[in-house]
Amino acid sequence: SLGITWAVAWIRQSAQVVSEHRVELITLDREIGDGDHGENMERGFSAVLTKLDDLPSEATPGDALKLVATTLISTVGGAAGPLYGTAYLKAAAAIGSAPELDGAAIVALLTAARDGIVLRGKAEVGDKTMVDAWTPAVDAAAAAQAAGASESEILAAAADAAEAGAVSTEPLVAHKGRASYLGERAIGHRDPGAQSTAYILRAAADTAA
Ligand code: ADP
Ligand code: MG
Ligand code: MG
Repeated sequence: SLGITWAVAWIRQSAQVVSEHRVELITLDREIGDGDHGENMERGFSAVLTKLDDLPSEATPGDALKLVATTLISTVGGAAGPLYGTAYLKAAAAIGSAPELDGAAIVALLTAARDGIVLRGKAEVGDKTMVDAWTPAVDAAAAAQAAGASESEILAAAADAAEAGAVSTEPLVAHKGRASYLGERAIGHRDPGAQSTAYILRAAADTAA
């Protein structure tokens, strides 16, 4: 099972990959948005890193995710801040104060995160948003868990599906967010929020392996 050590490692690795891919996320967002997604995400996760140092030693994974939520909501701004913030908040609520997460809890965490994003942003699969990465990730995680996969296998299945989901946004017209103003001009460009989702879920898998 996965506990606070994994949760903290996931969050630190998320900050690392968001920072490594800052320019790429900015470039994607420059093509179909306003070019700030990499900067928004890096600002948010670097604030998270600072706050992680204050996490008490008896903290649970849910406490860590709640800290990410409140920090992202107050520092990221734009569309992605409240969406990711809600995702981490709902994920934290789904796992409660459990000190260790089994496969079912990991699936519940991912499902609640995705549901939070959909509740907040009202996007469906195919609207060319981060939901196009999250929903296949949740489905793949649930299928892996039902097939008896380990926690790290469940997260790897989610990360693989999120990456494919991010690629799947390329041929789409956007129906939500800034890219929806572009009509057909959004075709051929990958959604930046779907790509950041793929990086964050890959970080979850890598730190569980
Ligand atoms: P902003 O568009 O305000 O500059 P960001 O650039 O940080 O915010 O984030 C843009 C990303 O937010 C998009 O690539 C998309 O994935 C996501 N997004 C925007 N609107 C929605 C929505 N209604 N539902 C889900 N995701 C959305
Ligand atoms: Mg933007
Ligand atoms: Mg913006």
